[in-house]
Amino acid sequence: MTIRFDNSYARLPDTFYARQAPVPVAQPEVVALNRPLARELGIDPEALTAGMLAGNEVPEGAEPLAQLYAGHQFGNFVPQLGDGRAILLGEVLDTNGNRRDIQLKGSGRTPFSRGGDGRAWLGPVLREYVVSEAMHALGIPTTRALAAVTTGEDVYRETVLPGAVLTRVAASHLRVGTFQVFASRGQTDALRDLTAHAIARHAPDAQGPLDLLSAVVDRQARLIADWMSVGFIHGVMNTDNMAISGETIDYGPCAFMDAYHPNTVFSSIDQMGRYAYQNQPNMAVWNLAQLASALLPLIDDDQDAAIEAAEDRLHAFPDIFGDAWIAKFRAKIGLTTEEAGDGALVQGLLSRMAASGADFTNTFRALATGDASAHFTEDGAWESWAPEWRARLERQGSDGRDTMLTANPAIIPRNHRIEEAIQAGVSGDFGPFHKLNEVLAKPFTESPETEDFATPPRPEERVMRTFCGT
Ligand code: AMP
Ligand code: MG
Repeated sequence: MTIRFDNSYARLPDTFYARQAPVPVAQPEVVALNRPLARELGIDPEALTAGMLAGNEVPEGAEPLAQLYAGHQFGNFVPQLGDGRAILLGEVLDTNGNRRDIQLKGSGRTPFSRGGDGRAWLGPVLREYVVSEAMHALGIPTTRALAAVTTGEDVYRETVLPGAVLTRVAASHLRVGTFQVFASRGQTDALRDLTAHAIARHAPDAQGPLDLLSAVVDRQARLIADWMSVGFIHGVMNTDNMAISGETIDYGPCAFMDAYHPNTVFSSIDQMGRYAYQNQPNMAVWNLAQLASALLPLIDDDQDAAIEAAEDRLHAFPDIFGDAWIAKFRAKIGLTTEEAGDGALVQGLLSRMAASGADFTNTFRALATGDASAHFTEDGAWESWAPEWRARLERQGSDGRDTMLTANPAIIPRNHRIEEAIQAGVSGDFGPFHKLNEVLAKPFTESPETEDFATPPRPEERVMRTFCGT
């Protein structure tokens, strides 16, 4: 067997999914294969063929299925979503003993496709590959990209585009929306089975639904702090795009900020700024409240008691997030000790950066490596902050340089670089895509060779809008 599958999800009752094979494509060709990840999964990378990665051949032991879920999209509940363009091939136990899902994305229609074609075009496949692997290199929990293949088929969006399939690896594809679908249908038995499955996979110490909720609250609070610390904007934090595992999932119109502003939004479909950079912690709480609400029937027969208990668990979010956030931002300004005024010191820097439109990544990096003052266009902005910062470093007795160099990446997946790699890829040149992956694999390493990738976009290169991965 090429892949040693052990498919726990497929053993759940068939209310959880629709068995569905991927739909074969005309001419699969491998664009990228993540060999280290394959080995980590206990798979010989040489055995992974283009046909397998496109869904043309279903590997032995796979039990392909489309998962059912629901979700709040921009605040509106959609009772049934589900994998409309993805197929879960199955699960493996990786070389560390961790259970991992292997999923094809862009693999054809399923019973949950609604009006969609079940396909993906090359752009979002390359984007998810680049950004998810970059997140991993930054040390942030995320789904991974095992492979990208082109299909040799056209996909019809606003124009005719080349089709592609991404192989995604995840701790699981359980979402807040997976709980919502059964809760909204009043299927309490399914909800109970799902909760047991989620506990086994993601919170083995949990004694029941409340502990599971706490585990998810904890992971999401830390995850959002991680995102904030690198200027990441998810873009579509719908409840179907929030993983129970605490991994970043569903890289659609996501983006890393260049110029810092707390209200930054990229997604073309987020006109109200619901998922703006600064709003992400609030939206995470909102989503977690939906999870809590879905779990209520399992918590207590007395609904008021159930609500009170769930709210109590939800209320842990602000402190966990606040602690994780300040720990990240202390490190970003080189602080290795704690003082009460640290939060205000960080906010003082951020508000000056916002006023100057300073590059988020490069300004923090320059605190250790260069002349940070050059990033401030407002007269006296830097000068009114730096002395207090220097005095604070002096009090801790170290310059904090090493701390800053490991907390502040030099290279992030900048939008204009991703767009450039996609455009080249569409015309058949995957050189820029491979180069980008190579550079992003070492985000904390600067060299003259990588300087171009650390440079913010010129005005004409700026990407103002990002689009959903359909
Ligand atoms: P997303 O906003 O990308 O998380 O997707 C939301 C829902 O739309 C999910 O149920 C997807 O499976 C479905 N979907 C997105 N694109 C397609 C497509 N091209 N064909 C079928 N379903 C899709
Ligand atoms: Mg999604």
